[in-house]
Amino acid sequence: MDFAFSEEQNLLRESVRKLMQKHAPPEYVRKHDRERTYPEDLYQAFAAAGLLALPFPEEYGGAGGTLLDMTIVAEEIARTSADLVMAYTGNIFCGLNLLRKGSDEQKRYWLPKLTAGEIKISISMSEPDAGSDIGAMRTTAMRDGNQWVINGQKIWASTAGAPNNVISLYVKTDPKAHYRQGMSLFLVDNNTPGLTLRKLDMLGRRATGTYELVFDNVRVTPDRLIGGENKGWDVVMSGLAVERAASCAGNVGAAQGVIDLATQYAKDRKQFGRPIGTNQAIAHLLADMATEVEAARTLMWRAAWLVSTGKDALREITMAKLFTSETYVKVANQGMQVLGGFGYCEEFDMARLYRDARASTIAAGTSQIQRNLIANLMGLKVQ
Ligand SMILES: Cc1cc2nc3c(=O)[nH]c(=O)nc-3n(C[C@H](O)[C@H](O)[C@H](O)COP(=O)(O)OP(=O)(O)OC[C@H]3O[C@@H](n4cnc5c(N)ncnc54)[C@H](O)[C@@H]3O)c2cc1C
Repeated sequence: MDFAFSEEQNLLRESVRKLMQKHAPPEYVRKHDRERTYPEDLYQAFAAAGLLALPFPEEYGGAGGTLLDMTIVAEEIARTSADLVMAYTGNIFCGLNLLRKGSDEQKRYWLPKLTAGEIKISISMSEPDAGSDIGAMRTTAMRDGNQWVINGQKIWASTAGAPNNVISLYVKTDPKAHYRQGMSLFLVDNNTPGLTLRKLDMLGRRATGTYELVFDNVRVTPDRLIGGENKGWDVVMSGLAVERAASCAGNVGAAQGVIDLATQYAKDRKQFGRPIGTNQAIAHLLADMATEVEAARTLMWRAAWLVSTGKDALREITMAKLFTSETYVKVANQGMQVLGGFGYCEEFDMARLYRDARASTIAAGTSQIQRNLIANLMGLKVQ
């Protein structure tokens, strides 16, 4: 058993840390959160540093790295912000879906644009009446001559309104069929005529944003269909473990960011003439937080490693998604306690970390749905 990262991976982590210190200092993160603006210059810095190219093959403009490399990057970005990491991970796992399921022509067209930072790719599946229950999806794409016409409404689409974003849109192409046999994936530019986007007023992740999308006779050409007609579910399932690995890395990195802030505060803040961290109540709380995040990290790395070997790791990655997200929410809550009134005040960073944390047990599948899946894999027949 070897838990060590390679020298290259340690250097990669160090270089991402430096990139974040340079391009996303605290005032930058606060400004984009406050003004709810997409961190475009940071995204371009990711591209310039080759981070977007990392897990893609060289023939498509990639750097030939691994899923683990991508996970290291995501963890390190999230240590600065769970909001800003959305400008990295979503693009990568949507791009990896394209790599797995796109035609050679589609890969040659889209992937070099993504790795160069010319475009972004987001995912949109959820609808107002189809959240956990994807089968209730109603948005359709129907053939009309040599085009597809899309009608319907999507919601909670992270980063959909970012500049030059292309939406990985899952819709029903056979409304009568079960969604596993009747759903398809299309790539739709976010400025296509007939598509209206609205940035939603969310508790957190305010820079990268969460959107409502309304499709009113949006027309796309057949080359925008990825993975074949009615094969959307295959695409989703083929990329599920990678999506969860990315979200786990974000949770662990962001939880570490909470601990960094709370620990420093406990050393600096004096009450009764001494640092609050000299109170065992606070010191033990921080020790428990650090221990739980370390446990989450270990679960995440083992699951991500299993996924990277190509083995079936649905059980492990689902457990990791559940545990890393629940741990992140828990330590964000505890971190706020450590900072007292300064934690609860929007003029200081902990309030943002707390707000951003709360999405993690809901987005990319709720904790309840992860538990259902784990229980079903244990042979229990959860309804
Ligand atoms: C910040 C954020 C970003 C998101 N980004 C995206 C995105 O980019 N693309 C996208 O497509 N979607 C995205 N989502 C949507 C997300 O995947 C859904 O919110 C999630 O799947 C839950 O769906 P819902 O909100 O409709 O809740 P519901 O499905 O209505 O669930 C409500 C509650 O009931 C519980 N519940 C429902 N069914 C069951 C069951 N069978 N057993 C036990 N409990 C159950 C849920 O766990 C939850 O607690 C995002 C959501 C958030 C909050």
